[in-house]
Amino acid sequence: MAKDPKKNKREAVPSERPVRVLLVEDEDSFVEALSVGLAHEGFEVTVARDGAEAIEVFEGADPDLILLDLMLPKLSGLDVCRHVRARSNVPIIMVTAKGEEIDAVVALEVGADDYVVKPYRLRELVARMRAVMRRTPASTPEDSLGETAELGGIRLEPDTRRAFVRGDEVHLRRKEFELLRLLMENPGRVLTRDVLIDRVWGSDYVGDTKTLDVHIKRLRAQVEQVPKTPVLITTIRGVGYRFDGA
Ligand code: CA
Repeated sequence: MAKDPKKNKREAVPSERPVRVLLVEDEDSFVEALSVGLAHEGFEVTVARDGAEAIEVFEGADPDLILLDLMLPKLSGLDVCRHVRARSNVPIIMVTAKGEEIDAVVALEVGADDYVVKPYRLRELVARMRAVMRRTPASTPEDSLGETAELGGIRLEPDTRRAFVRGDEVHLRRKEFELLRLLMENPGRVLTRDVLIDRVWGSDYVGDTKTLDVHIKRLRAQVEQVPKTPVLITTIRGVGYRFDGA
């Protein structure tokens, strides 16, 4: 995956106005429940009922976030995602049904920021929406420098690049530190191998595909209580890794 310089140009939503959400969904029950639920949470919701309408509405609505159902009439969620991502860095959360997890991975690869699986609870969805919005302005390394991350017994101090595991300092190499930081910034979320490699190594990645796994293995040796049965850094076979320390 090529490094995308546009990613660093996302801007935070001004705090004085509600966050605008484009909800792309063809099932009436979801449209109704989400319109009410999200409005209650303070979001301003615009609805598109199919993929073609989504693209049409997107141009005029200028949303701050898109909730994008995968299975849609006319154009699939993946096609909409590709179309939008070619033009904008607006955060996109893909909504899938059970059994569509493979497509969700493809969605991440074509530029979605996260995905949720139906049925989900509104609270979970809103938490993910807020997380994606938070990541948006902080996606440049300069912005997040100095922010201490603490999760699952691990504490990272980015400005000094010091790491503490259950109170004890551990020495992490630069890429190990960046990898752990990226995982910890996205707790509970699967990060694909491509995303991890792209964000941690970018064009520096010259090794074979095992380089990532070697780094994960070394990280686990430092942060897991039992490295052979990891509970903090989970492998999602064939996809990537997830931080489960939340
Ligand atoms: Ca659908």
